[in-house]
Amino acid sequence: MGIIKDNKQYNPNTVNLVFSLIVSLIFTLIVVLSTSHITTKLIDQSRKEFDEYCEDMSSGYAQSVTLKIESYFSVLDTYIKTGYANNHSDKEIQQYINKIKHINHPDFMNVSFVNTEGIGFRQNMTLSDVTDREYFHKIVDEKFDYFVSSPIRSHMNDEPVIILASAVKKEDGSLRGFYSASIKLTTLNKAVESFLFDKDEWIFILGEHGKFICHPDPDMILKTYSPEIHDSNLLSSREITKIGKGHYKTISTRGTPVTIFLQKVPPTNWTLGLSVPDTFFYAFKQKENRYRFLIVILGIATMLILTFLEFYVISLLHRHQHIETIYDSLTTLWTRKHFEIEAAKLLKHNPNNKFMFLECDIRQFRYTYQNYGEDASDAMIFYFSRRLNKLAMKYNAIIGRGFADHFYILLKIPSVRKAMAIFKHELTELNLKTKDYEIPFMSKYGISFLMPENSDRADTIQQLIGQASFAKTTIQENLLTQYAIYNSKLLNRIREEKFIESHMEDALKNGEFYVMYQPKISLADEKIVGAEALVRWQSPKLGKLMPDTFIPLFERNGFITKLDFYVYEQVFKFLENQIHNNQPIVPISVNMSRNHSKPEKFMHDFLEIFKRYSIPSNLIQVEIIERSVMDDKTLKEITEKLHKEGFTVAMDDFGSGESSLNMLTKIPIDVLKFDRSFLTASTKENGEMDKQSAEFIQILIEMSKVLNKSTIFEGVETAVQRDFLRSINCDEAQGYFYSKPLTAEDFVEFIKVHR
Ligand code: C2E
Ligand code: MG
Ligand code: MG
Repeated sequence: MGIIKDNKQYNPNTVNLVFSLIVSLIFTLIVVLSTSHITTKLIDQSRKEFDEYCEDMSSGYAQSVTLKIESYFSVLDTYIKTGYANNHSDKEIQQYINKIKHINHPDFMNVSFVNTEGIGFRQNMTLSDVTDREYFHKIVDEKFDYFVSSPIRSHMNDEPVIILASAVKKEDGSLRGFYSASIKLTTLNKAVESFLFDKDEWIFILGEHGKFICHPDPDMILKTYSPEIHDSNLLSSREITKIGKGHYKTISTRGTPVTIFLQKVPPTNWTLGLSVPDTFFYAFKQKENRYRFLIVILGIATMLILTFLEFYVISLLHRHQHIETIYDSLTTLWTRKHFEIEAAKLLKHNPNNKFMFLECDIRQFRYTYQNYGEDASDAMIFYFSRRLNKLAMKYNAIIGRGFADHFYILLKIPSVRKAMAIFKHELTELNLKTKDYEIPFMSKYGISFLMPENSDRADTIQQLIGQASFAKTTIQENLLTQYAIYNSKLLNRIREEKFIESHMEDALKNGEFYVMYQPKISLADEKIVGAEALVRWQSPKLGKLMPDTFIPLFERNGFITKLDFYVYEQVFKFLENQIHNNQPIVPISVNMSRNHSKPEKFMHDFLEIFKRYSIPSNLIQVEIIERSVMDDKTLKEITEKLHKEGFTVAMDDFGSGESSLNMLTKIPIDVLKFDRSFLTASTKENGEMDKQSAEFIQILIEMSKVLNKSTIFEGVETAVQRDFLRSINCDEAQGYFYSKPLTAEDFVEFIKVHR
């Protein structure tokens, strides 16, 4: 792209993109931050829920242990309720409990009756001394009704056990002794393990002094634990018993992060610990996490879609509001409107400088559009815009694009002479480039200059554009002139054209247009074989006008189609009149302007007029100009339609445009009417034919014969030319050598003489 502002290049697309990127980035950041904030909150929340859940679990386990212990006591209760101890001797009690040992709890290793002296009468009929045991003192000295001992080693077999003791009272309330039951810790451990739901959880139970009652590792039973290294996360078993309730995070003996939930186990003063690996938490929340992940993904997707929409809307708004008014969407150059604004500023701020203005376009662009389509045409415009922009940058010019292939360039110049020298040089270079393009093309330029003496510079840009674009329209179709400079002579042309435009409609109504006939002669026998109808304008104000002065203008403003049908009607009227009056006649050819591009409509209007007159259609030939806007397909269609109605068709000015001989094989044209330039170019100053050109013409005539086309040459002015054409078997000739265009009356006389 290229606009020049403070000698810097701004690309509207880049600006647009950067802006959208920044907005998207901010948006993304907000979404990411808020999502992560929400996610952390949610995770905290679920961690809390998880902790509560584990708390409940551990309390459940503690209750199970309590129940277990209660179930042990209820068995001892049964022993007490028998009342046997109250009226029997210690020995008898021993015998008795031995007899009813089947009521024991399956976890019991042994049951004893202990008297107040501390002698234990075991169920297995052995005796023991328990005066050294804590539980003995609790019951006997401290008057506890029941007690659960700390883990100890059994006197009987040295197994780690706990002892449950339940006091037996006499009727007067004094102590008779107590029943005690010993439970192996391995048994208790097994029972506790059976509570666990998951193999990865584990439970430990600590006795009062931090000794393990239950632990998955049997070696730890009856031992305490204190960490080898000092770490605030690692607690000794004594510290744990002191905490008693709640939870804390630590590292398990297996090295994995765990949370330990602590509970008291009534009626004992034990502490139960449930160790839950942290991986449980993730597993526990996996489903929620999955949803959360989904929410995050959805959030990001929504964000992306929104960002895309925002970008799309911004670029749409830009294109329609901003770009459309400032930048042209295809080339990204300034639009004509914006170019005019910037140009006006430039002119105003540099009142003492000379300026050159150029309006340019691509030659035969319409031809490209019709033959190659929109994409190829756009590509060509784009390519051309790049080339021009490069030049604009080189010379510090400003550039804009107008309608289709039109471009505007304005630059400061040191002098007209220097500017023109540079222009010509750059044009030659540019031509080399455009000729090398995949569809070779040429450009043409209208040029206007502004000198410092022109005072009011604010609205002069419109004038400069008007002048340059007018100058450009004066460029003839031949490829040799590529530019035209506006001057005062052209100004008169403008005035004349303005006048013509304002009078053309009236002129048509007032019959100021009339037709002249230029005979066509058969070269074989010099007899008249036809004529071409050529329009003239007899203006009361401007005098007699030749088609060259008004037809290009009428082609531009579209009036030519009206004039064409007017001429056709004059011709039909003339022929009908001749036939009616029994006067001699020859076929007449009429010119079809390049503006007729719709075969259907042309045929409809043409036939409508034609049918009003009773003349045979073979008296009419239609000359279609080679450089018309018609593409090959339309040309073929109209030729076929004319043929169907009995008219013949000639290709006018053949050789002046770009039609190939190849195209002629496809289109059933009857006559090839060779352009006058063939003869002017091949006739030397002394009037002789140039050998090489003559040979070229000969080949063309021969080829036309092969293609079965009749041939006629325009602009035959000399006998040499006539003789040459005859020698190469050209069929007909038209030109001043035989006759200039004649008025209707003179033409009738001409027929009479030459038929
Ligand atoms: P054209 O159709 O090629 O017509 C031939 C032109 O060559 C005529 O110019 C004719 O006067 C001129 N001419 C004929 N013989 C000679 C010669 O020996 N020497 C020279 N120097 N010129 C010769 P004219 O009448 O000025 O018309 C110019 C063009 O205007 C025509 O070229 C045609 O394209 C257009 N034109 C004329 N009448 C009409 C019309 O009724 N409708 C349309 N659409 N175009 C018309
Ligand atoms: Mg013609
Ligand atoms: Mg012609």
